[in-house]
Amino acid sequence: MKKHIPMKKFSQNFLIDFNVIKEIVKFINPKSHQTLVEIGPGLAALTQPICNLIDELIVIEIDKFLLERLKKYAFYSKLIVFYQDALVFDYSKLLNKRNKLIRIFGNLPYHISTSLILCLFERINIIKDMNFMLQKEVAERLVASPGSKLYGRLSIIAQYYCNIKILLDVSPKCFKPVPKVKSTFLSLTPYTNYFPYFTYNIKVLSYITNLAFQKRRKILRHSLGKIFSEKVLIKLNINPKLRPENISILQYCQLSNYMIENNIYQKYISI
Ligand code: SAM
Repeated sequence: MKKHIPMKKFSQNFLIDFNVIKEIVKFINPKSHQTLVEIGPGLAALTQPICNLIDELIVIEIDKFLLERLKKYAFYSKLIVFYQDALVFDYSKLLNKRNKLIRIFGNLPYHISTSLILCLFERINIIKDMNFMLQKEVAERLVASPGSKLYGRLSIIAQYYCNIKILLDVSPKCFKPVPKVKSTFLSLTPYTNYFPYFTYNIKVLSYITNLAFQKRRKILRHSLGKIFSEKVLIKLNINPKLRPENISILQYCQLSNYMIENNIYQKYISI
């Protein structure tokens, strides 16, 4: 097969370490009765071993040359191929056809990984789980706790929706070309029966976290001052002198619910 020249604009760092690939496939643990979707199959490092275990796999790939290469493999007959940008792909059509929650996995193109995860959260109701390789730093942001430098909007929104487990740290040497950053493989499982956090409306939670973290160094009395008086923050058991990284997801939910219960949100956001 003709050699593929990796395209930087598509973050093409291909997995080449067989042990890592084996581990990842074990973590994904695909079954034929499930609806599995791979984002960016690339040179099939994960696609091929996954196809050895199941009858059908949906793949979404933006590079048509890579899709052409896939045609040469015997497992191609098991693939349902979408030549599309995973950021604009309509995931709900996969559910409509099968009426089964979807399992999404991939060694994600790092330049879009955060936007893609946020975009998938908007489709959370149709997702059973997500298993992704990400930049280590993004993985750390996703699981960060209050008090950490990496704790921010992404941590709050991700942990609001999902139980997140770091599964494997992966060295740059396991990819070709070698990326500049370290990687981490993790799973995100949307909460179904038990929800640790509650907000009436995620848009309001998103608005507040955005406002608070726009200026990380500012204390809450200042950054959230236009919405909450010092008196209200104290009433909600939130110290107005704290910085945004020092309050919990539960407290951000309390703030968002206070805005809704008291009809304050209407002035700032339409839901
Ligand atoms: N799965 C392969 C592996 O593990 O070796 C390739 C992973 S590589 C990091 C990312 C893959 O995502 C590439 O195949 C790339 O072409 C594809 N890709 C990049 N941007 C994309 C997008 N917006 N939508 C779908 N696929 C994309």
